[in-house]
Amino acid sequence: MKCLGELAEAITNVGFSMYFNYEKEEGSMSQYFAFQWHITEECDQRCKHCYIFAENACKKLDAMTWDEMQKVVENAEEFCVTYGRRPYFYITGGDPILHPNFWDLMELLKEKKIPFTILGNPFHLTDENLKRLKDCGCDKYQLSIDGLKETHDWFRKPGSFDETLEKLGMIRKAGITAVVMTTVSDVNIKEVPGIIDTVVKNKADVFAFARYVPTSDEKSTGVSPQEYRELLAACDKKYKEYKNNPDCVTIFNRKDHLWTLYRYEIGDFKIPETAKEGMIYGGCHCGNCHITILPTGEVYACRRVADSKVGNVFEDRLKDLWVKQVEDYRDYRKFSKCSKCKLLAWCRGCPAVAKGTYGDFYAEDPQCWADVDGDMRA
Ligand code: SF4
Ligand code: SF4
Ligand code: SF4
Repeated sequence: MKCLGELAEAITNVGFSMYFNYEKEEGSMSQYFAFQWHITEECDQRCKHCYIFAENACKKLDAMTWDEMQKVVENAEEFCVTYGRRPYFYITGGDPILHPNFWDLMELLKEKKIPFTILGNPFHLTDENLKRLKDCGCDKYQLSIDGLKETHDWFRKPGSFDETLEKLGMIRKAGITAVVMTTVSDVNIKEVPGIIDTVVKNKADVFAFARYVPTSDEKSTGVSPQEYRELLAACDKKYKEYKNNPDCVTIFNRKDHLWTLYRYEIGDFKIPETAKEGMIYGGCHCGNCHITILPTGEVYACRRVADSKVGNVFEDRLKDLWVKQVEDYRDYRKFSKCSKCKLLAWCRGCPAVAKGTYGDFYAEDPQCWADVDGDMRA
């Protein structure tokens, strides 16, 4: 997915020129812009690590009306026309399929030929509705696995693990890419290699993991930088073994940007000789190529970054927010550690985890083990 970097160069004044090339990570050079859109908070689960229920488990659940949903599409389309991009939606919730107008939205996206991914639960998927989703333009369906069976069901609900694995085959059968995402914390970090074996065995098309973001009640993920590096080393070994196994259909997405640090250390990532000083080539998407819309209409720079509200989709034009309020999330010189790091242009870790841990978007990534004053090679 190619982002709005070049555009941001023209419309912002941070003194950094920017160019993005997500060819490797996203597998496409299409000029899409990603809108992560939470249409409802309704959900059959109450996961222990859910952002929606983390601070107030008894809150009233929000959902957009159908009229509001149409306004979101129109606002996003205007954004894309303004900046010469094509919209791509990540439709999520809650479980988006529980929204009473879910299928109206699917038909609207079909009519407008806007592609999308669904991030949802397994519980309401049938062969019939998966076929319909495919017909409406659904590219990918992402499910979560947060541990081996006992841990996953403890995080989510009894039966969730088996049902998730069962639905992977149905998603594939409908011609939709089946994606599995794991949220890693100190509770499940030791189970990640076993999760990889499980998703390969159950033929997920894509597997990735991201780190848990501490909420205001907590101060850390409980994972040290060295432990996290050891996890990446173990996963890298497994990924490479599976790559040479002709029976493995799973593609491993090295999603966390600390993969760049690890790959740099082992020589799998090299700073291109053509790289120019002051350019941004990849890394954290916050403030440069995605935006999140909540069921209340609130627009966030990133859903995982606490308090990153930049406006409201019913009151503001997204195209205006992008060049004003979102600016606060792309001042790369403010990163306390990354600004001194040779991988700044390709990494920046996960500022959501930094914000959750230290209360500062620009603080150092708590799992980054880099010695930015050293040569950073293993
Ligand atoms: S399935 Fe998603 S939205 Fe529902 S409780 Fe779990 S994390 Fe939250
Ligand atoms: S200092 Fe920042 S840019 Fe450098 S490796 Fe760590 S997180 Fe990545
Ligand atoms: S803050 Fe973290 S979750 Fe948000 S876009 Fe950046 S890397 Fe991704």
